[in-house]
Parts: sequence; C-alpha cells; structure tokens
Amino acid sequence: MLQTADEPSFRDSVDLMFSRAVRLMDLSPGLEQKIRVCNSTYTVRFGVRLRGKIETFTGYRSVHSEHMEPVKGGIRYALSVHQDEVEALAALMTYKCALVETPFGGSKGGLCVDPRQWEEHELELITRRFAYELIKRDLIHPAQNVPAPDMGTGEREMAWIADQYARMNTTDINAKACVTGKPPHAGGIQGRVEATGRGVQYALREFFRHPGDVALTGLTGGLSGKTVIVQGLGNVGYHAAKFLCDEDGCTITGIIERDGALTDEKGLDVDAVRDWIARNGGVKGFPGGTYIEDGAALLEGACDILIPAAMEGVINKSNADRIRASLIIEAANGPITFGGDEILRHKGKIIIPDMYANAGGVTVSYFEWVKNLSHIRFGRMQRRAEEARSRLLVEELEQLSADKGLGWTLSDDFKERFLTGSDELALVRSGLDDTMRTAYQSMREVWHGREDVEDLRTAAYIVAIDRVAKTYRSKGL
Ligand code: GLU
Repeated sequence: MLQTADEPSFRDSVDLMFSRAVRLMDLSPGLEQKIRVCNSTYTVRFGVRLRGKIETFTGYRSVHSEHMEPVKGGIRYALSVHQDEVEALAALMTYKCALVETPFGGSKGGLCVDPRQWEEHELELITRRFAYELIKRDLIHPAQNVPAPDMGTGEREMAWIADQYARMNTTDINAKACVTGKPPHAGGIQGRVEATGRGVQYALREFFRHPGDVALTGLTGGLSGKTVIVQGLGNVGYHAAKFLCDEDGCTITGIIERDGALTDEKGLDVDAVRDWIARNGGVKGFPGGTYIEDGAALLEGACDILIPAAMEGVINKSNADRIRASLIIEAANGPITFGGDEILRHKGKIIIPDMYANAGGVTVSYFEWVKNLSHIRFGRMQRRAEEARSRLLVEELEQLSADKGLGWTLSDDFKERFLTGSDELALVRSGLDDTMRTAYQSMREVWHGREDVEDLRTAAYIVAIDRVAKTYRSKGL
C-alpha cells in the first residue's frame, strides 16, 4: 500500500521534512530555496527495436544539487518510475551524501521498464541505449555524474553502462569511475553488493551502543535476541536480514514480499526464503512459516525492529497508527510518508531515517569510485607489509618467552587473526563501519544537544543541510 490519496507526493513529503528541519536553522530564505530545489531533470524517450517492433521507453536523470561534483545516485528500473519520484530520490541523495560525508552532490535516475518482462539480451540493448542518451549529455561521467544500482538494477546493468561509456570515450583513462556498483571483475569493489544491507546492520549496532537511545524505544539490552520483521527481500532487505540473523543473534519473525508475507515466531530461514522466491516468484507456498495473503498487514505485526526495505510510502497515514514495532529503521528510501512520520513521532516511536540507514550503498560506491580513480585495489601496497610487521612482533614475543623461560603461548586463533593483513573487503568494511558510527554520532549530537529537535530524522536533515549550506557559502552564494 502506498501513500493515501490525501497525502502529499513523495517529493512534497521530502520537502516537508526539509522544511521542518530548516525552521530550526538559521538559513537565509534564498539559500534555503537554493538547497531545496531540484536543479534539473532530463527526460528522455528513446526507441529500441525489440521482438520485431519498436518499443519506446521513458527515462529520467535528475540532478538535485551540484554543490559538490560529481553528483551521485542510483538508476532505478520499474514501471512506477516517474519524475516526482526521481526528484524526491535525488534530493535524498544530496542529504544522504552530506550526512555520511561522501563528497558528492545528489542525483537519481529511473527508467520506466519492468525488468522481468525482458530477456537479458533485450535488457542489455535497453540499458545501453539509455546509457548512450545520458552519456552524450554528460549525465554519466566520472567527474560529473556517477550512477549506481537501485531497485531493479544491479552489477550486470552497471557493467553494461561502464562498457558503453568506455566505447564512447575511448581515451578517458578514468572511464571506469563513470559508474559504481560494477562487478569486481569489471572494476567494482569487494563488498559493494551487500553494502546497503551491511550499512543497516552497522547502523543498528551503533544505535545499540547507546543504551540511553535504546531506552527511548522501550527495548533493553543489545541487538541479540531482538525480533525483526523485514519488508522486501531484495538486495538490501536480504542482506540486512541475513547479517542480523547470522551475526547479531536477531530472529527474523516476518518477511513481507509482493505476493504476501511469512511469519514464524521461531525465526525464518532467510536464505531458504530467498531461494524459494527465486524459484517460485514469491513467498506463497514456502514450507516453513505461516503464509499471510495481506502482506502489508504484517507491517503492523508485533516485533522489536521493523525494517521497511522495499518501496517508498508504505507506512503512511492509513497504517502508521497501528505500527507496533518499537524501532523502525528505514532501509528503503522514503518508506514513511511525512504524515506517517508525524503519527509515529507523536506515538514516541524511534525511526532511524533512510538518509542515514541506507547510506551504506553510496558509501561503498565512494570507495569504488576512489579505487577506479587511483587505479589500484585497496590493500595491495600495504597488506603484506602489515603482515610482516605483525609477524615480527609475534616472533619477538615468542623468542623472548623462550629466552627467559616465561612459557608464554599465543593462541593459534589470536595469531591467525593478528597475522592477517587487511585485504580490500576488510578495508571496505572498516571504512563503512567508521562512516556509519561517525554519521550516527553527528546526528545524535543534534538530537540530544538541542531541545527543539525531537527526532533523528530532523537531526539528520539539520546536519546534512548545514553541510550543504557551508559548501554553497564557500562558493560565494
Ligand atoms: N541507489 C543507492 C541509494 O539510494 C546507491 C546510490 C549510489 O551508490 O550512488 O543510496
């Protein structure tokens, strides 16, 4: 269920959230307006000859803010894509990038297409044609506009886009940096696919490091043992659920998908559900757990943590009042409407907002972009040097123990971990973890440091808008 008819559009909803924050800030009306508006939206309609006839597709690339360049944001493939949505998502990218300190402006793209309707080779033709239209206008460019995956797209589409750019810019040595989210063999980076889900996990871990914040939800203790309902078992929802279950001791008691939902108080097997969906197209008939046809109703199910990881507008004025979860973490972009947010806030629910919660994707995209521009894999120079230093220390300690007859022994587990230098994946995780912790703390300072800020979302907007404003001011605006 999306936003109700009497609610503002997605873009207006983002605008209202922006306004709520700006009212608490000291910005000149001119600067406020400059930051708020979407700089440009390019609409393209192009034809592709498919199955013996010409099919016309409509696509968009919105640039919300160029206070930093390149601008950054994914490309979404869905039949529901439209200009208002793309502009809302582009605005969220601006604030998200500012909040997690990735040096980008905000952008977003979308193509009205149902990817499940086309064969792989057809999707390649469509993607290359769309990319061609954007590349020739510098709307895909390593220094100006760098897309990434979003709903309905992934590594495969990003590889096609990168290749299309390289074909059209044969002497650009930085061509690979024109898009992120590429597969590792095509210039991608380890850990990008799961980055958004990993970011959700790190965000929750950071939240639970602050017992005072946890207390506001009415929950106690750490993440372990918490019950979780996740909406959407796509790339983000799947990885978030899997990591929380496998590594943090959470129990996934509900999974909501397009065709219904599954519940099991004892915990659902996330991988088994994912495999079932891949083979059967939905959750219906899954042998473990109870099937509910009205999937959206499970958003209102009792649980500790609710993770909407699918579409925008799913929690709105029509159902916000009945949400029972103590803590909501927005893994999708815009899953709670402005009206829904008001209701939840007044009920005292704690919401970890999208611009923070799902920033893991763009954070690792940033690492990938830097990797492409530096033309070297992270860790390649220092990994073995790091190992050699650690070995020196271990050998010295062991020698000392033998010489002095101290009988010290270092456990094999310690030695293995201590002697392993950081490879690219370890460095990506470290950078992501650091980013999520730092960004949470910057939001938290505003949340608790100011009497007039009631919630994390407003705090996030204030931190982000303040950073964007500073950049504009130093440009002389
Ligand atoms: N589409 C993702 C998002 O909404 C990733 C964007 C990127 O990596 O540029 O944040």
